[in-house]
Amino acid sequence: MAGRVLEALQHRRMTLGPAGREQGDGKAQGFRHWQLAWDDSGTAWLLLNRQGSSVNTLNAETFDELSDILNNLTEEPPAALVIRSAKPTGFCAGADVGEFANLDRKEPVQEALDRAHAVLDRLEGLAFPTIAVIHGDCLGAGLELALACDFRIAIDGAKLGFPEVRLGLHPGLGGTVRLTGLIDPTEAMTLMLTGKSAHTAKAADLGLVDAVTQERHVRNGVRAAAAGELKGAKPGLKATALNSLAAREIASRQMRSKAEEKARAEHYPAPFKLIDLWREHGGDSAAMRKAETESFAELVLSETAQNLIRVFFLREGLKREGSAAAEVRHVHVIGAGAMGGDIAGLCAINGLRVSLSDIDRQMIGDAIKRTKTMAEQKHLGPRGLREALDRLVPDRENQGVRYADVVIEAAPEDAELKQDIYRTVEPAMRDEAILATNTSSLPLETLANVLQRPGRFVGMHFFNPVALMQLVEAVSHDAVEEEAFRKAKAFLRRLDKLPAPVRSSPGFLVNRCLMPYLLEALLMLDEGAKPESIDQAAERFGMPMGPVELADQVGLDIALSVADVLQERLSSPLPELPSWFREKVQGGSYGRKSGNGLYAWKNGEAQKNEDPPEPTAEMEDRLMLPLLNACATCLREGVVSDTQTVDAAMIFATGFAPFRGGPMHYAERRGYAEIAGRLEEFRDKFGDRFTPDAYWRERANP
Ligand code: NAD
Repeated sequence: MAGRVLEALQHRRMTLGPAGREQGDGKAQGFRHWQLAWDDSGTAWLLLNRQGSSVNTLNAETFDELSDILNNLTEEPPAALVIRSAKPTGFCAGADVGEFANLDRKEPVQEALDRAHAVLDRLEGLAFPTIAVIHGDCLGAGLELALACDFRIAIDGAKLGFPEVRLGLHPGLGGTVRLTGLIDPTEAMTLMLTGKSAHTAKAADLGLVDAVTQERHVRNGVRAAAAGELKGAKPGLKATALNSLAAREIASRQMRSKAEEKARAEHYPAPFKLIDLWREHGGDSAAMRKAETESFAELVLSETAQNLIRVFFLREGLKREGSAAAEVRHVHVIGAGAMGGDIAGLCAINGLRVSLSDIDRQMIGDAIKRTKTMAEQKHLGPRGLREALDRLVPDRENQGVRYADVVIEAAPEDAELKQDIYRTVEPAMRDEAILATNTSSLPLETLANVLQRPGRFVGMHFFNPVALMQLVEAVSHDAVEEEAFRKAKAFLRRLDKLPAPVRSSPGFLVNRCLMPYLLEALLMLDEGAKPESIDQAAERFGMPMGPVELADQVGLDIALSVADVLQERLSSPLPELPSWFREKVQGGSYGRKSGNGLYAWKNGEAQKNEDPPEPTAEMEDRLMLPLLNACATCLREGVVSDTQTVDAAMIFATGFAPFRGGPMHYAERRGYAEIAGRLEEFRDKFGDRFTPDAYWRERANP
């Protein structure tokens, strides 16, 4: 669609303008990332088309080129300038994050920002109308580019926002100044503080865009903007009221307390710096801009931002795991319970044909109902929902197996039952299809015993709830064919999941590493520590939720069954569970879902004592070190091949403090010898479960 813009412009026989002709061969052709063309009305169309990338991002080179283009346009002014993207993926995803990594000095950052600022200021100051035409994502620096234009026309479906806080930053190219100057400043601050993007309707309501249109009406929109007929919303009374420091003091106090609910300033300083920036300088563009540059340069060098940038690249790494081309059209899912039902719904929502079987008809009906809810949460709209539901077919007789490219078994956790299913379905499968199990604890080698073609068999360990959890463990075993494993990972990407490759072993990676952390919390409870203090110790480290509350959320019954499996199958067993815990589960206290567990639960909220005893530093280490130690064991045993996969999996599956860059990155920063030493100290004090894995000393003394 929009990616064909350049083609369409050429089709209309647009000529290169003076800027092009002046340079003989065409100056425009000299630009790597921009293409300039003129239409018959004298409007210049400048298309961003970052070379070597499927999405547009802005780096120093794109700004330098833009600067040259603006020079040319200033000499030969067009009637208007349109800036848009030549890529179907969207307008611009933001700054090139690669340029933020591994920085160590403030000055070069500030210089680079000043150079880019100067280009945007020139764009803003041009004497002719400038119009950003936006489709798809318009984020971060991309939105800052659009904000420097006089008008913004969004094509239905566009998304605009400032996701910088997710990288531990705030906008740094004038975004804080231009956005708070353009729309209601409190709305502007909410956008920047949450990092959420505004879809077209919301963007229009906010006054962030001046018009919303369809691709076919873009030229009319541009004509109207160039003729001064577009009347975008202007900042109203509220913006004026917030021009006083006193008013901003009050508003910023509220913002601060909201931000504190989400994160601690010592872990995530960016939102707090952004609030201070606006409180001190809101309404004074020059001062705010100067402060924005300084604050951005400080933030980008901070450990938090550098770790969050690392997390960004960890995500990209997992995406690459699933980058192979794989033709998947039809998926057959066996078992329509909590997991299978949602996996089937997710596949249908992502455009795949799905047949869903279960021995219980009611379960299939319930899964279809849940798919409706999932589709609504994903803003599919009535037509999208209808199409998704049309693609999801109840299939009690497993007729779909013979057409399926992927067959996913999500039947109860019972090896014999699963094997019986395989005996029935495998003979009907196509040769190139893969068979996947969602088992969370059964060895793939055992399950594969009954298969004719174990090479086509893989694990896909989805986490619960399927729609929300980004990570899926892609589980391999000795007999798996490389191509089948690649296909499995590519299929998971097709569902927009992040595939983490792990080898079949008890608990795979995530449950195995999380369980010692949960068990240590139970042992602390057993010693008399308050659940709230234990949770606070983990939250102080940066976990999104403490282990006691997490166990209640996951379900104590599920936690117990995972612990039992690991206990039975691990070569170095876990500590004994306190007997009261097993009794609690046997008595029906499962946590949140039963209304009582380690906490009492009311309306989905754990009932906590507001003023528990202050957790000690020792508690923090007692919780985190068993998790780190298990990660090291998984690496040493080859459950996972590298530290990046461990870090990515633990962050995306368990929420492990992202600002610490992942457990292994944290361990490296803290020092392997220090980790080993602290574990030894705890082993002497609390017992053998703290025996340091050999990994630490091997790495500490290579
Ligand atoms: P579930 O009990 O909710 O669903 C299993 C479904 O399979 C039921 O609807 C049942 O009727 C159906 N079933 C039983 N025998 C069948 C057969 N022969 N053919 C077709 N359907 C049959 O279980 P679940 O929680 O969805 O778990 C499924 C798998 O996913 C298990 O291997 C489990 O270990 C794994 N898993 C579960 C979770 C979780 O949190 N629930 C998380 C990750 C993985």
